[in-house]
Amino acid sequence: MSSNSETQAHHVVLFPFMSKGHTIPILHLAHLLLRRGHAVTVFTTVANRPFIDHSIAHTSASVVDLPFPQNVADDIPAGIESTDKLPSMSLFYSFANCTKHMQPAFERAIETLPRVNFIVSDWFLWWTLESASKFNIPRFVYHGMSYYSAAVNWAVFPNRLLFGPESDDELITVDPFPWVKVTRNDFEQQFREPEPKGLDFEFFMNAAMAQMNSYGVIFNSFHELEPFFVDYWNRECSPKAWSVGPLCLAERPKESHSKPSWVQWLDKKREQGSSVLYVAFGSQADISPAQLKEIAIGLEASKVNFLWVTRKTESEVLEGFEERVKDWGIVVREWVDQREILMHECVQGFLSHCGWNSVLESICAGVPILAWPMLAEQHLNARMVAEEIKVGLRVETVDGSVRGFVKWEGLQKMVRELMEGEMGKEARKKGNELAVMAKKAVDDGGSSCRTIDLLIHETCIV
Ligand code: UDP
Repeated sequence: MSSNSETQAHHVVLFPFMSKGHTIPILHLAHLLLRRGHAVTVFTTVANRPFIDHSIAHTSASVVDLPFPQNVADDIPAGIESTDKLPSMSLFYSFANCTKHMQPAFERAIETLPRVNFIVSDWFLWWTLESASKFNIPRFVYHGMSYYSAAVNWAVFPNRLLFGPESDDELITVDPFPWVKVTRNDFEQQFREPEPKGLDFEFFMNAAMAQMNSYGVIFNSFHELEPFFVDYWNRECSPKAWSVGPLCLAERPKESHSKPSWVQWLDKKREQGSSVLYVAFGSQADISPAQLKEIAIGLEASKVNFLWVTRKTESEVLEGFEERVKDWGIVVREWVDQREILMHECVQGFLSHCGWNSVLESICAGVPILAWPMLAEQHLNARMVAEEIKVGLRVETVDGSVRGFVKWEGLQKMVRELMEGEMGKEARKKGNELAVMAKKAVDDGGSSCRTIDLLIHETCIV
């Protein structure tokens, strides 16, 4: 990566939200800035500190851990400081609301730091805008979405497009992009009400207003991936966007002395000339017991080699499953380095919930996706994957609804199509093309590399 010799070293404050999918890309951004010679301070909470320390060990980055507010919300158990530890994702907004109580401690800490050139803080930490303004520091928002999803949201909500159709599954044309069709089911329930109100909506509005009033928004994407939507954002939406991704390419997966058992298993599959399907649904998906069982039966019936990462025990999935599939599939319950798995030569398909990090990591590895969205903006990401950039297929639900139940027969059929069929082949070809473009974007002189230079330059003179 180049550094811009005309600009002085900056001091940048990074404040990721307390969920893995929001923290990991911000830590990649930290590495990018550090390599360019800038000073970085990462804010986190006490319980999240070890994860941060592990990622930036052996660098000059500083970490400030603030206490996570206790006894603020009755429904958040003491000691839970990360969304992947929540008993249910229905507590998400209650958890996110607690963070506002960190504002005084955050401001006291900022006061003691050397001059800060800019802050990058998460969309969910909307109150950091007020803190940044107090100290006259530009704040950039990080929300971790694609331009496609952000632009579709921007077009759908103010124009109340969700309130025309009678059914939740009826296709709606998104006006500024007539080839894009969505359904009400592609959006979370709380935002589908004609007159939304309540805690979630209030939180959402605070975050949206804070974004509008921030200096800029950092997108973990690259121009060549979704040029139309990048241009739309910069023409119609605010604040100004900066595409600095894919951030997952900022550093290589960490080398370790001993290979984890699942990587050894993948090596063996490679030696046998076999291809493997990687199955993972991110760090926080709530999957029903009935649905888990269908996944197991479908994978067993497909006879496709698979590596499935899940925190569920075998009795929560399907008794005897692991013994029966042992010749072609393994289940991993530990934290894995997902990028390392996706980059393994034998991994040729990804059954994914379409969290935006997972989509980008798959694109960068040239691995096609079987899209099975679950929550948040994952349904829009799945549409983007299958319909816009065409690097994947979608799972088949029993009733055709994007939120419908997936039976094992439909899963088996689509797994085979992804791994062995013509549609899978096409998606793999497209994925490989995009992988090359992604790498170019972050290399010296590439679009994302130049954007970081511009951002640094611009924040010199603010
Ligand atoms: N991840 C990982 N190991 C795991 C589980 C998740 O490395 O065992 C990483 C994954 O590579 C991605 C992030 O966690 O970077 C999950 O983000 P994503 O947006 O895909 O999904 P979310 O967890 O936010 O739903």
